[in-house]
Amino acid sequence: MADREGASGTPRMRWWGWGDPGHGPALNPRTLELLRETVGVAETPRAPVALDSVKLPLTRLDEDARAALVAVLGADAVRDDRLERVTHAAGKGYVDLVRMRAGEPAGAPDAVVLPDTHARLGALLELCASRGLAVVPFGGGTSVVGGVEPLTGGPAAVIALDMGRMAQISELDRESRIVTVGAGIRGPRLERELAKEGLTLGHWPQSYEYVTLGGCAATRSAGQASSGYGAIAKMVLGLRMATPVGDIALAPMPASAAGPGMRDLIVGSEGTLGVIDEVSLRVRRAPAQRRYEGVMFESFAAGVQALRAMAQEHAMPEVARLSDAAETRMSMALAGGGGAKGRLGRAYLGARGRGDRSKIGQRTQRCIAILGFEGEEDELKGRRARTIGLARRNGGVALGGSPGRTWLAGRFQAPYLRDDLLSHGVMVETLETATRWSNLQRLHEAVGGAIEHALAAEGTPGLVMCHVSHLYETGASLYYTFIARQRPGREIEQWRAVKRAAGEAIVVGGGTITHHHAVGRDHAPWLEPEIGERGVAALGALKRELDPAGIMNPGKLFPSAG
Ligand SMILES: Cc1cc2nc3c(=O)[nH]c(=O)nc-3n(C[C@H](O)[C@H](O)[C@H](O)COP(=O)(O)OP(=O)(O)OC[C@H]3O[C@@H](n4cnc5c(N)ncnc54)[C@H](O)[C@@H]3O)c2cc1C
Repeated sequence: MADREGASGTPRMRWWGWGDPGHGPALNPRTLELLRETVGVAETPRAPVALDSVKLPLTRLDEDARAALVAVLGADAVRDDRLERVTHAAGKGYVDLVRMRAGEPAGAPDAVVLPDTHARLGALLELCASRGLAVVPFGGGTSVVGGVEPLTGGPAAVIALDMGRMAQISELDRESRIVTVGAGIRGPRLERELAKEGLTLGHWPQSYEYVTLGGCAATRSAGQASSGYGAIAKMVLGLRMATPVGDIALAPMPASAAGPGMRDLIVGSEGTLGVIDEVSLRVRRAPAQRRYEGVMFESFAAGVQALRAMAQEHAMPEVARLSDAAETRMSMALAGGGGAKGRLGRAYLGARGRGDRSKIGQRTQRCIAILGFEGEEDELKGRRARTIGLARRNGGVALGGSPGRTWLAGRFQAPYLRDDLLSHGVMVETLETATRWSNLQRLHEAVGGAIEHALAAEGTPGLVMCHVSHLYETGASLYYTFIARQRPGREIEQWRAVKRAAGEAIVVGGGTITHHHAVGRDHAPWLEPEIGERGVAALGALKRELDPAGIMNPGKLFPSAG
């Protein structure tokens, strides 16, 4: 059995899937039956291969280069055993998991290195630049866009730079409510430490249990409560980035007019410019109260109007997610069980036969929203009353606390389900965008339609669901989940066809190619349509300045290298 802790001393994830290796099955017989009736499942479940069967390329790191790494970091901080190389060979996107489960990663780092001080990190980058060793910064390894894939951009060796040993809390400025941490600190540890001081960061992506704050900053991540607490870009007030030519250190400031936002050029740079090794983050008083509840709307349009009103009339909940009709039907079906509610759920889903996509979606058009409020008693009471009032004005019916509590309790569990679905030959994938309120419903239909069409063209009609979340005064994010039978032997081509169709629909439809998953390898072709040729060239110039040898995370973010 693989070690429970990685070389950095942090809990290790399943190398072939999500989360705690000791976690039991997440797929219950009811859900499996529902999927068998709708999209179809494999007749025989298929487990991931054993660790020893993973095809690992021979290491390209020669003895001399290895010895030089050891001289800078110490022997214990340079690892090239099978488990470490496999664990750092991929992120946690659909394609990553398909490849890892089959034991056929696209590549593997030639070594994994674990610097523990800023000085060693700087020396390491200098060494790698002088020897042409590619460096992939590795936080929690939860990227879903190929961000940590160990590409070299050439024949040279590539090392994964694990940030797990740079995870200290270096300063807490209680008066200003700013915490400064090593970028390798994971979300739960930071929240635990802040809780002792009655504080919270309020950043809970669905991948929270394994993300590092450096990885979140490098990807412009958004947590589930971003409507209230803001996304990570709003929380990062200062940072330090080590680059192959030296450091950029930006002290935490509440705001600044000192030229274009340097901080914003680094937040979202995805390891292509350097390694963020320290971040200063805004924190808040931990909420005295949390109240999560459900509201049902007659239609998606009514729910969208209500959310827009909340965002524009200063009545924003911390968490706001409005499921479209398809996602609402699915959650009701899954919540239903085998009894009367289960029958109700199946009726809603219209599940009558395998691939009977035409019948799915003929039932209710009602849409459920989860609203979560966090704050001090009086403030929360007043804000909630205004929010619920706006929901009611748009026809919303309050469902009470039960749907909210259920969502809160299960919010980090879905990724385990994905592993079980893959075992049963079912593809489940997510993608996201954001757009203006005035374009939101049009884009919702266009992207959903493109995904449906692409799945059908692959001969695997599926379920396409979406929710609106991450509210802003001017717009919101659309987050799609799609489920379909895998095409055995063609899983990646099938995925690519759907991804391409969705990406095109997003760009043509006026959305951003990514609201919070970042660009990585998968979205690189769509960066230029979004920021323009000059925009890409300007970023390229910055990269050449900071990383003249081109060693930092090759093949990511920049379209030409993708
Ligand atoms: C099941 C699941 C759910 C998810 N839910 C969300 C969600 O709700 N919201 C969201 O925003 N994202 C989500 N993600 C995506 C992912 O968790 C985020 O992109 C996260 O911010 C990555 O953090 P990480 O520490 O795992 O970074 P990694 O995956 O290790 O790295 C991500 C990218 O950042 C670079 N990088 C990492 N650390 C550094 C550093 N210190 N300096 C410079 N570059 C660095 C890497 O090279 C890579 O390009 C989800 C992913 C999964 C698998």
